[in-house]
Amino acid sequence: MIIGIPKEIKNNESRVALTASGVFELKQYGHHVLVEQGAGKGSGISDAEYESAGAEIVTDPHDIWRQAEMIVKVKEPIDEELRLARAGQIVFTYFHFASSIVLTEAMIGRGSVCIAYETVEKPDRSLPLLTPMSEVAGRMAVQQGARYLEKPVKGRGVLLGGVPGVPPGRVLILGAGIVGVQAAKMASGLGAHVTILDINTDRLRYINDILPPHVITQYSSQYTIRKLVQTHDLIIGAVLIPGTKAPNLVTRDMLKTMRPGTVIVDVAVDQGGCVETCVPTTHENPTYIIDDVLHYCVANMPGAVPFTSTLALTNSTLPYIINIANKGWKAACANDSALMKGLNVVEGKVVYRGVAEAFDLPL
Ligand code: NAD
Repeated sequence: MIIGIPKEIKNNESRVALTASGVFELKQYGHHVLVEQGAGKGSGISDAEYESAGAEIVTDPHDIWRQAEMIVKVKEPIDEELRLARAGQIVFTYFHFASSIVLTEAMIGRGSVCIAYETVEKPDRSLPLLTPMSEVAGRMAVQQGARYLEKPVKGRGVLLGGVPGVPPGRVLILGAGIVGVQAAKMASGLGAHVTILDINTDRLRYINDILPPHVITQYSSQYTIRKLVQTHDLIIGAVLIPGTKAPNLVTRDMLKTMRPGTVIVDVAVDQGGCVETCVPTTHENPTYIIDDVLHYCVANMPGAVPFTSTLALTNSTLPYIINIANKGWKAACANDSALMKGLNVVEGKVVYRGVAEAFDLPL
């Protein structure tokens, strides 16, 4: 199969959909990989590296979209890409169709086979192509939180790990899923005092088993959250209720009860945020302050660390890419129920219930 890897064109997106090692593996199976010139630059992968792994470097993205039987990307097609996708061509990437009627209608019109990373779902309901980005965001949440707790950037002026003779900072994590566990791991590793809440007691049990004793688990309730926000330096929002907006666990009136300089990192911002005052921000302008509480609500946190994120993402996508390339999308999906769930729009028809329901389209 001819596989195309265009350079991402979305603002500030430095990830790339395939590494040189991925090219090498695909070549072993006899596939031909076209990589757009400079596609890996933001992730530290040079054209020469791709070439030595067996890729053909292509200067014009039009040539890639014209020749490739499968396009593999990171972000959804935008702008001109929407006109370049072809009928019957496989496009494998994050789409998040349910959040954009424009994208959905465009891809229906193109007649491509759209397989969305975010809906590939294993029988245990885990989302293997979303997990690595949650892992990155969870770990980054603590890094960013620690930074914004510093006084010159208007934080409380607390060192999360403390020092001998001085108590550590206190971190409150709402949600003990992928993001929450990774955040708890990082914060406890720094020596912070960590409290993590969830409504799923199995998750709390798991965390209690795997993390050190200074990570305290507590059942999540409005009463508990209202009390805990008053005494914690860093609050990390990491809840998810699949398919719906995140619940407002931290309400606006609670901000006044927090100490000035408290930092909120609402990782759940891409689902509307679990903090009532959460408004999406960007890496250029990541924070704002309300009632002396600093908010960090960047919707694409992994984009800031493309070297790490590209590897984390491609480690998970590559087996699926190889499977589709080897068997074709029909046979690959027929043999893999997880991949089958990734099918969203196929040759002009919406085939994913969530997308059809979002826009009242026939399934
Ligand atoms: P997950 O499903 O693994 O975990 C979510 C957890 O929230 C679950 O354990 C669930 O039981 C818990 N929860 C639900 N309601 C709760 C409540 N009322 N109180 C406490 N906990 C509650 O999800 P995840 O992969 O950890 O993702 C968390 C959020 O982070 C999602 O919205 C995801 O889209 C987002 N995310 C954002 C970025 C970013 O760049 N901002 C990157 C990756 C993920």
